[in-house]
Amino acid sequence: MPSDHILSYEAGTVLTVDLEALVANWRSLQAVCGEAECGAVVKADAYGLGLGPVVTALAAAGCKTFFVGHVFEGRDVRTLAPEATIYVLNGLRPRTGHIFADHALRPVLCSVPDMEDFGQFCATSGRRWPDGSKLKAGLHLDIGLNRLGLGPYDLERADHLAPLFDVTLVLGELARTEDICRAERQIEVFDRMRERFPGCPASIANSAALFRDETPLYDLVRAGYALYGGNPVPGRANPMRPVVKLEAQIIALRILEPGARVGDSPGWRAGGPRRIAMIAAGLGDGIPAAFTDNPRAAGGIAIVQGKPCPYVGTIGMDHSVLDVTDATYLERGEWVELIGKRLQIDDFAARAGRSGPEVLVHLGRRCYRRYQKI
Ligand SMILES: *Cc1c(COP(=O)(O)O)cnc(C)c1O
Repeated sequence: MPSDHILSYEAGTVLTVDLEALVANWRSLQAVCGEAECGAVVKADAYGLGLGPVVTALAAAGCKTFFVGHVFEGRDVRTLAPEATIYVLNGLRPRTGHIFADHALRPVLCSVPDMEDFGQFCATSGRRWPDGSKLKAGLHLDIGLNRLGLGPYDLERADHLAPLFDVTLVLGELARTEDICRAERQIEVFDRMRERFPGCPASIANSAALFRDETPLYDLVRAGYALYGGNPVPGRANPMRPVVKLEAQIIALRILEPGARVGDSPGWRAGGPRRIAMIAAGLGDGIPAAFTDNPRAAGGIAIVQGKPCPYVGTIGMDHSVLDVTDATYLERGEWVELIGKRLQIDDFAARAGRSGPEVLVHLGRRCYRRYQKI
């Protein structure tokens, strides 16, 4: 894990992850799910927040089903949550069948070749589930996104393969759209395709769909972004508790003459005498380049001594620059808040014209990560 070899006093940026808030979010999502089970999507190192601590906290709270992207992530989740049900969303890569069998992982098969590979592995390897039954898999049904997933014709072609393993979940993906008609059409297609698998548990909802009244939740919800404090209902107040705080240290301060530029930025010039702070967070720490000189977004701000201060000049790899004229008595070595309760991840992302999950997943790599209340 990245921060294992960073000491707290060496760090330029600190990412604090509030596991209590994460667990509270899972509990409140489970309450919204009602009869359905709320599973946790922990792909990409739990959206950058650290697979180990996140899975350990959620499993201890009672979360039973985890979704990952890759088989190796599934193997890691298995060591953290020995009893959990683990689905691998990218399906089966060639030659990986034994890893699924070794660690009781379930591929979400998403094409006919996936089904053929897994079927052949099941038929020829003699491998069984720990209780002696057939190996288990989910099936990704394509309900109109034209990415991963089996279409109706694929299901017909692969009909002879399904008996080689236990299909324990049929999964569909909804478009990220406010278009209710499109969502209803997708659900109709899903229900029609599901008829081939009577009694099989189903899953269609991600964080956003969980909060759309018209979406049936079926048996299992796949909650990702909302668990980590992201707003699942853009445009409405965020029902989730913030989970992350990102802080950066001030490396240096200086006064600018009116008209001065910062770095090689063509766009920004000091409109009067300004005070600027160089902070130890840049592109390499997940600060979006689009925070400055971007006519299509509001521009980034950080919270310095409780005041919003804009980013100016280009964002460097290792540092960026804030106009801190409005903050008084600032000193080198002080910490400023880049993301937190006052500036949540969705606002941070929107100010760069980016999506929340995209920004979130890029944060953690070079930060000192700590797990405590924010
Ligand atoms: C990532 C992912 C999710 C989680 O989506 P969020 O918007 O983060 O809740 C759910 N389902 C699938 C198939 C995914 O790939």
